[in-house]
Amino acid sequence: MTFSDPFDLAKFVRYSHDKHKESNITNLEDLYQYESYYSNIGLRISEEITPKLHQNLNIVCNRLKVPQNRIKAFVLSRPDINAHCKHFQKKGAIIALNSELINLMSDGEVQFIIGHEIGHFLFNHNYFDDNPKITKTESKNSRAGEISSDRIGLLSCINVDLAIKAMIRLQSGLSDKFLRFDTSAFLLDTKSEKLVRSQLENSTHPSARIRADALLRFSLSEPYQLIINNEESGAKLSDVDKHVKKELDTYFNLREKSFFEKLFD
Ligand SMILES: [Zn+2]
Repeated sequence: MTFSDPFDLAKFVRYSHDKHKESNITNLEDLYQYESYYSNIGLRISEEITPKLHQNLNIVCNRLKVPQNRIKAFVLSRPDINAHCKHFQKKGAIIALNSELINLMSDGEVQFIIGHEIGHFLFNHNYFDDNPKITKTESKNSRAGEISSDRIGLLSCINVDLAIKAMIRLQSGLSDKFLRFDTSAFLLDTKSEKLVRSQLENSTHPSARIRADALLRFSLSEPYQLIINNEESGAKLSDVDKHVKKELDTYFNLREKSFFEKLFD
């Protein structure tokens, strides 16, 4: 199954509880302004100066059928393993990758990260990363958005092992010298992690374990199999999403609220 419009592809795999409102930014001038800002604080990804990154960006855009001129990609000299996306509805997006992330990651992992960030553009997600006053509903929406974007990341690198490796890398900051890749050992800690999730209800991202588990399930789902192998097999996406929701709901403290808590809720 192929999609000629990347926004249709995104709709097809979107996590069903990812219901972001339309973003208000529509002005193309803003995109140009941000573009010149980023070309000042970072290095534009280009064939001449960063050929390997340019090639990975090309591969991702081709796989997602996103016109490459809509994606302005930059590297920022920053020590934290991170990336972000500023998008301007369907008009275009700026993708910024921190240098440390690139120094540590393999090509497939970089493709996953680039794809994940382009995912935020395709889903028109709101961004809350720098907002300390984030509400519970906003953080819940943000976590749901990450699940959808990971799916686009996977469709960009087409290798669930590499995608999960990128997640463990983001979580640990480790190079291959110290990292042994073992998904099932990594997911084993999920049980103990559940105990602390309710303390993290304002976090904008689900834990790497939830994301890895959700992606693994998505890789076995019917939509993924249809897109990648053209086969009508695998789990229904609604069943995958049901499981993911159950995991994400553990971020909320489910104990009975006191009278005063209810009063000020
Ligand atoms: Zn994200």
